[in-house]
Amino acid sequence: MVNRRKFIHASAFGSLGILFSKMAAGNQVPFTIKGKPVVISTWDAGLEANKAAWEILHKGGRAVDAVEKGVMVTEASQNCCVGLGANPDRDGFVTLDACIMDEFSNCGSVAFLERIKHPVAVARRVMEKTPHVMLVGSGAQQFAVAEGFALEEQKLSTQAQAAYEEWLKNSEYKPPVINIENKNGHGPFAPLKLSNGEWNHDTIGMVAMDAQGNMGGSCTTSGAGFKMRGRIGDSPIIGAGLFVDNEVGACTATGQGEDVIRVAGSHSVVELMRQGLSPEAACKKIIERIVKIKKSKAKDIQVAFLALNKKGQAGAFALHPGFRYAIKNGDKEILVTSKSWFNE
Ligand code: ASP
Repeated sequence: MVNRRKFIHASAFGSLGILFSKMAAGNQVPFTIKGKPVVISTWDAGLEANKAAWEILHKGGRAVDAVEKGVMVTEASQNCCVGLGANPDRDGFVTLDACIMDEFSNCGSVAFLERIKHPVAVARRVMEKTPHVMLVGSGAQQFAVAEGFALEEQKLSTQAQAAYEEWLKNSEYKPPVINIENKNGHGPFAPLKLSNGEWNHDTIGMVAMDAQGNMGGSCTTSGAGFKMRGRIGDSPIIGAGLFVDNEVGACTATGQGEDVIRVAGSHSVVELMRQGLSPEAACKKIIERIVKIKKSKAKDIQVAFLALNKKGQAGAFALHPGFRYAIKNGDKEILVTSKSWFNE
């Protein structure tokens, strides 16, 4: 089991790692981390991504540089649902969304971007080289190519090809059920199934605080597998999939994007931290808001928020069990299981 293996891997980083790995292997973890620099990111792939971010953070580099380089590791992985190796839309094309935000509230975003390996790097160029925040579709691709990004071959990864062929057997287009892990596996809009039978997730969101105490965040995804062509979730939307306020903290989201957008999820979490709530309490409040809106349908979706405040405290909260996040600072490199609203 990948998760079990990674918990064990995480435990190799010291006694605290072992402690939290054991706690994480149970249901819920009351967890706070303090101090800077620090980087946190969603899901198991965050462990590897954090390492790349740390290369920048521990040398005194900027958080925004760290979060860009960090998630690029995941984008480049063919074994993940982020980047060009991911599941395609229902027409068979991989379309990517990403955004980035820095300590000055500069932000950039791309959505519905095809054949570009590193959407987050293009989002950064949008932020730095245009007067705009968001470019989409062929315009985003044109901009990327003009900026020197290679136009990659339009070809599905072996795993995505197999998953797509499987999906085509029924071509069932249902409202997405993303990232819920239970005894029946994942819902119809499943994350990528690896050849060894394990599941992988379709987004990485990362937030960091650098040695100067400045914050940055990034988020990148292929969105929901076999989605309707042109569908964009929360991940590239500033305030939904990501928000950074250098006075307060930062938040990123994963799960069903439509329901994150509805509550301006990441921005709402940051605003609650501004009012004094801890990262975990702020994440929980917005999950509660989603439950209120969705009523009984909240059972069918997964949403999780992950936040970091200016004190360097990290916290998360999910609708359903199964959401994990990775933390790295000077002496810890661990995977933590989030608390959740439902506890089945
Ligand atoms: N939030 C992403 C989306 O809706 C999916 C995910 O987090 O897995 O596109």
